[in-house]
Amino acid sequence: MAKAAVRWIEVGTLAIGAPLRVAVHEVQGAGDGPTLGVSALLHGDEVTGPEIIRRVLEAVDPSRLRGRLLLVPVANPLAFQALTRNTPLAVEIANLNRTFPGDPVLDLPARLARALEGGFLDHVTHLVDLHAGGTFPVVDYTISLRDLDLALAFGQQVVREVRGYAGTMGALAAQQGKASVVAELGGGYARDAHYVALGVRGVLNVMRHLGMLDGQPERPARQTVVTELATLRPGHGGLLYSEVGLDRMSAEVSGGTLLGRVVSPHTFDVLEELRAPFTRGVLLLLRAGMTPVNPGDYAYMLGNLDGARTVVNA
Ligand SMILES: [Zn+2]
Repeated sequence: MAKAAVRWIEVGTLAIGAPLRVAVHEVQGAGDGPTLGVSALLHGDEVTGPEIIRRVLEAVDPSRLRGRLLLVPVANPLAFQALTRNTPLAVEIANLNRTFPGDPVLDLPARLARALEGGFLDHVTHLVDLHAGGTFPVVDYTISLRDLDLALAFGQQVVREVRGYAGTMGALAAQQGKASVVAELGGGYARDAHYVALGVRGVLNVMRHLGMLDGQPERPARQTVVTELATLRPGHGGLLYSEVGLDRMSAEVSGGTLLGRVVSPHTFDVLEELRAPFTRGVLLLLRAGMTPVNPGDYAYMLGNLDGARTVVNA
């Protein structure tokens, strides 16, 4: 017998005649325990998530598992097909992860959100939602929406504590009283092996923390909890020449540090300089090298280290 049963959440029929449906893998453990939901690809260009879930499935032995796993590797098949963050064929709100709670009669993202609630979210007691930076940005931090200890157990260097995050599946889970964590890791098709390994360790850590598996979570010696975050979105489109590489991820940067320049590929004029906003900041999302940007795209994210807390792990 296969260790996981695959069930399909049916969303509807597309104009081309194909069904829109979402796979859920269920692993029932031998012992009693919580139901942990792990989801990936709510945004279609965050492709490290399904691989993390595949390896978690490989690693878990149901005879040693207490509780149940519900795993959704491709939450947004339409966006995955297009390899875009947002959902093609959307009439109203294109970002699936700003669409929760969903609606059974509005446009496709709303129906998809509603189907994910009924077929997945309603059945879990704890949620880990896997995200990444997308096509160009690379990201590395955990968002705690409810239950900071669970977010710290995931084991990334920086945890951002958030109250509410309207429209996201993670925030809806938190509203329902469920422990809810969003892991932002990887992207940019860079260091994928590193971030997949970090993600697999993170999910197994959460399971250890919840008593679903034996053993203690493997965490860094020190973790930082930030509450204030700045997102740098360029005002001009063009080519972004980054001054910081992947080696600066999770590093401290002082206020005013030049992070990148937006240059016109038509005139070669420097249109904009992006600089670190906080006196003491920590880099959580960045782009390496030279990447195309549009106004409003994610270029950098920094957490404010003033007012941050350090957690020292034994
Ligand atoms: Zn995302």
